[in-house]
Amino acid sequence: MIVNIIGGGLAGCEATYQLAKRGISVRLYEQKPIKFSPAHCNKNLAEIVCSNSLKSTEMSTASGMLKAELELLDSLLLKIAKQVSVPAGSALAVDRNLFADKVTETIKNLPNVEIIYGEVTQIDTDIPTIIATGPLTSGNLYNEILKLLGEDGRMYFFDASAPIVDATTIDKNLTFTTSRYGKGESDYINCPLTKEEYYNFIQELINAKSVELKEFENVNVFEGCMPIEIMAKRGLDTLRFGPLRPVGLVDNSGNKPFAVVQLRKESNLTNMYNMVGFQTNLTFGEQKRVFSLIPALKKAEFVKYGVMHRNTYICAPKYLTNNFMLKTHPNIFFAGQIGGVEGYVESIASGLVAAIGMYNNLMGKPQINWGNNTIIGALTNYISTADQTNFQPMNANFGILPVITNVKDKHQRKLEYFNRGIKEMENIAKFLNL
Ligand SMILES: Cc1cc2nc3c(=O)[nH]c(=O)nc-3n(C[C@H](O)[C@H](O)[C@H](O)COP(=O)(O)OP(=O)(O)OC[C@H]3O[C@@H](n4cnc5c(N)ncnc54)[C@H](O)[C@@H]3O)c2cc1C
Repeated sequence: MIVNIIGGGLAGCEATYQLAKRGISVRLYEQKPIKFSPAHCNKNLAEIVCSNSLKSTEMSTASGMLKAELELLDSLLLKIAKQVSVPAGSALAVDRNLFADKVTETIKNLPNVEIIYGEVTQIDTDIPTIIATGPLTSGNLYNEILKLLGEDGRMYFFDASAPIVDATTIDKNLTFTTSRYGKGESDYINCPLTKEEYYNFIQELINAKSVELKEFENVNVFEGCMPIEIMAKRGLDTLRFGPLRPVGLVDNSGNKPFAVVQLRKESNLTNMYNMVGFQTNLTFGEQKRVFSLIPALKKAEFVKYGVMHRNTYICAPKYLTNNFMLKTHPNIFFAGQIGGVEGYVESIASGLVAAIGMYNNLMGKPQINWGNNTIIGALTNYISTADQTNFQPMNANFGILPVITNVKDKHQRKLEYFNRGIKEMENIAKFLNL
């Protein structure tokens, strides 16, 4: 039995290992070193394209929880990341060259894996295949995937996204909930600003530091989603007539605020709200500093910062099951960022889940239930059930887990999320004979 895996990045390499160790032969296709995307430059597999941090290892964080779960599931890439880690406080940061070297060497030495170098431009749907070509999937394959998704196939090139906040950390005393002109339910959390607060906010926004864009990312960057800081530079009142406009909004005392930041629920399953119209390219530090000037968000926790880069991903809730299988073609799985997760470790996790899904399909075994309280289960549930109209890739965060309400202390509550999920994942690992 042979599985084709297209893309030897983080997801593709983890998927290769998971299938190979279960006795399945793998043909791993990787376009490097023959062809490089604009962000890739290392000729080896499993290239870390940007920051060398795989984020926190602390139990009180969702990324720490994700790593603990991956460890229970025998993730190859996490194991190697630890072996080549560099000091970074409570984060797991890696020597990226060593990491790529070691993953490549390990994959090359697996007896039932063949690595085939060159760009894949066609997909043979008769052969079980995992597509893991990442956010910078090449144009030829992009068109082939569109064909596979069918007539109404949708893939996104999303240039900028807005930050997402954990609703439990918003100061609700400083907000009011209503929709504009009272239309519909009270769907929005509105964060009002006085005249002074607004102009101070605009001034800081204009002067804040942005992430430097690579040349390739400048193409069409501003056409779809204008970053809020660029809009602010067009005039001090531009945002008051744009995303921060107060028209149709009256606070609980009947007053019309000077300006309003609106927060909208990300999904009905979670406690996360996105900042409406706040697509941004500011550095993460500046997003925290400047957006915390909005009074109700002074102590808000950002579960996801806004990012800007070329990003190719499919509308996972429309096309994929919760184990990353293409609903219309059970032979085809997606993994990594193209399959609707975001982040290095999330991509590794999705490679692992997709590979186990593929294995179970090939063996005629039932699929794994990844649990409701594990972060991997929450991620796979999210990508397969989120709102299709505004779907964006998701990273690991506590906002996608069922809320714990009976623990008041914030730190303790986070530990509870961790303990609850890990207990569940231990049982899943046992079921998988790990
Ligand atoms: C510019 C940029 C910066 C990012 N920075 C971060 C960050 O700092 N932290 C973070 O957590 N996440 C970051 N991400 C998001 C994401 O986590 C990473 O892109 C991650 O590497 C995705 O893993 P993946 O396995 O899906 O794709 P990749 O790791 O990109 O792997 C895809 C592989 O497929 C190969 N490939 C592509 N097309 C073909 C083809 N047609 N035929 C054969 N091979 C092909 C590529 O060469 C590559 O090796 C960033 C993304 C981008 C684009």
